[in-house]
Amino acid sequence: MFGGDWSWASFTMALLFVLTLLITVFCSVQGRSFQKTSFEMSKENTEIDHTNTIEDEDFSVSTLIEKANKNLGKRPDDQVVMFGDVAVHTGFINADPCTARGCKWPKSSDGNVYVPYVISNQYSTRERSVIEGGLQTFAASTCVRFVRRTNQRDFVNIRSLSGCFSYIGRRGNGQDVSLSRNGCVFLGIVQHELLHALGFNHEQTRSDRDNHVQILLQNVIRGMEFNFAKINTINLNTPYDYNSVMHYGRFAFSRNRQPTILPIPDNNAVIGRATEMSPNDILRINRLYNCTGQQQN
Ligand SMILES: [Zn+2]
Repeated sequence: MFGGDWSWASFTMALLFVLTLLITVFCSVQGRSFQKTSFEMSKENTEIDHTNTIEDEDFSVSTLIEKANKNLGKRPDDQVVMFGDVAVHTGFINADPCTARGCKWPKSSDGNVYVPYVISNQYSTRERSVIEGGLQTFAASTCVRFVRRTNQRDFVNIRSLSGCFSYIGRRGNGQDVSLSRNGCVFLGIVQHELLHALGFNHEQTRSDRDNHVQILLQNVIRGMEFNFAKINTINLNTPYDYNSVMHYGRFAFSRNRQPTILPIPDNNAVIGRATEMSPNDILRINRLYNCTGQQQN
C-alpha cells in the first residue's frame, strides 16, 4: 500500500496542504517528561561516539524538536493544527521560493535587516535569556538584527505554544514563533525556528537532496511521509550540509527504529546532529539577505 510511486503521487496532492504542518509537526513539542538541558552534552557525545544510532541522537536540534512535538495535534484543542492550516500560504522554500516573491524581511538603508520581535512574558528570566541570546547570535555573523518591537507592523511573536514551530519567511503583521517552555528553549532550536522565519526550509527538502541522502519512506510513520517531500529550493550556491541546524536526524519520524534518512554515498556519515548554526547556515543568511560585511552594529 505504501509503494514509492503511490506515495509520491499522493504527496504532490498533499504537499500544499501540509507543508507548514511539516514545520509544525517536525519542529514540533508537547510536554512529556523531557528534561534535557544542555547542548554541551551533545557535543561531548558526538566526539565520543561517531556512530549514528537512534540512542545517541538525543541532544541534536532535530531530535529535541521531534521529541518536543511528539504529541502535537493530538489534542482536540491543539492550536497548532489551526496554525498548520493558516501556514499553507507560506509557499515553498532551503531558501523558500517565497523569498523571491516578497517573504524576505526588508533591508534597511544602513545595510542591516531589522526583524522586530516580541517575547511573551510566559518565560522565566533564564528562558528569556536563552531566547535573546539566540537572537543575538544572528547579529554576530550576519546583517540580520533582531530588535525589540516598538510599533513596526511586521514582527515575530515569540511565545510558548504547543511545540516548537515557525512559519516560513515574513508573513505580514505579527507571526507566531512557538518555543514551548517544555522542550524548545535551547540555543539551537531558537536558531532553527528563526531560520524558518527568515525564509529557510529544512535541509533535506533541498532540490538537490537526492544526491546527498536517500529517503527510506518504508520506515516513516504512516501519515508523516509529507515531511520528506522535496522542495524547489533556492540553494544560493551553498553546498548541501549534513551539519546544518536545519537538517533532520537519521531516525526522524521513524516508525520502526530503522533510519529514514541515509546519507549517500557514505551511509555512515553523521547527519542531523547540529546543536547550533553551521558555517553554511550563516553563509546562506548572508547570501539571501545580501549582507556585505560592512553593516553597522
Ligand atoms: Zn524546522
